This record gives sequence, C-alpha cells and structure tokens, in this order.
Amino acid sequence: MYPGSFDPITLGHHDIVLRSLRLVDRVIVAVAETATQEKRALFDLDERIELLEDVYRDEPRVTIASFRGLLVDFARAADASIIIRGLRAVSDFEYEFQMALMNRSLSPDIEVIFMTPANRYTFLSSSLVREVARLNGDVSAFVHPIVLEAIKRRVPAKEAGG
Ligand code: ADP
Repeated sequence: MYPGSFDPITLGHHDIVLRSLRLVDRVIVAVAETATQEKRALFDLDERIELLEDVYRDEPRVTIASFRGLLVDFARAADASIIIRGLRAVSDFEYEFQMALMNRSLSPDIEVIFMTPANRYTFLSSSLVREVARLNGDVSAFVHPIVLEAIKRRVPAKEAGG
C-alpha cells in the first residue's frame, strides 16, 4: 500500500510506484481523505482518485483506493502487508521515521519500506507543483500528461499580455 495525499500525483510518486512493482505483485495507491480539507488543495478527493485511475488504467497491478482513519487499519483490511513511503531528502526523514515507528507500534505485522526516487525527482513535491501551476508555470516535466491536462483545465493560462 502506497498512501499519501496525491494532490496531484507527480512523476516522483510514479517513480516510487514503478520501483515498488519490482518488489511486490500489487500496489494499492491509497489516497487519504482528510487532506481534502486542506485549503491549499488543488484537486478534491474524487478528482485525485480519477487522475490516479487514468494514469494507471493500463497497469493492472496498480489499484486506487481512498481511506479515512488509521492507515494501518485500512492496510490490514485490504490485506496489505507492506506500507511504502518515499524518502526524498533528509528533511523527509524525521517525520517519516516517527510515523513508521508509530505505525509499527499500532500494527507490528505491517512493514514500512522507504524508497528513494530517481535523482531528478528528489526535489519534487505536489505542493511545489500546485504552487507553480497556480502561477501558470510549466510543470510538464513533473507530472503525467493526463495530470498536466487536468491542471490546465483547473488553472487556465493567463491571457497573453494580461
Ligand atoms: P503526504 O501528504 O502523505 O506526504 P504525498 O502525496 O505528498 O502525501 O506523498 C506521498 C508519499 O510519497 C510520501 O511518502 C512522500 O514522501 C512521497 N513522495 C512525494 N513526492 C515524492 C517524490 N518526488 N519522490 C519520492 N517520493 C515522494
């Protein structure tokens, strides 16, 4: 199970999904419902799920789900034995480490595995993509073309000279 907010899914997330598929048979991308309430959200929960479903339409080993409440409860209910998290830089480490230890104490039977993306994605985050997109910056190098189209519909380009 690969949990997160995915607002929106970036090529960094995608890189982690592809790497995970080298280790496991099936990946459930699990979108957290709570993050929807964030006021800086670009896509609501249903839109995030739809984008993920579109991106992984031709990949039967990847399924999309959403969850609320404790991740470990949802992972157990879905019969997932591993939680995958991405680690980009040292700055991710403290939070991820704390959460992994908490999850382990809540559910000792589920392992947390950290994966590191390709170098070019280590600086990439959904929040940065949202920020650049809102300012009409080009994010085509950071998201799947399906996501890029959705961003363009959500944040229309400014009129030339406007
Ligand atoms: P969360 O709100 O749980 O951090 P995100 O959707 O931002 O949700 O990220 C989900 C997971 O993917 C987290 O483990 C995060 O560290 C990881 N992640 C995010 N961006 C990248 C990236 N560019 N490369 C690798 N992992 C990433």
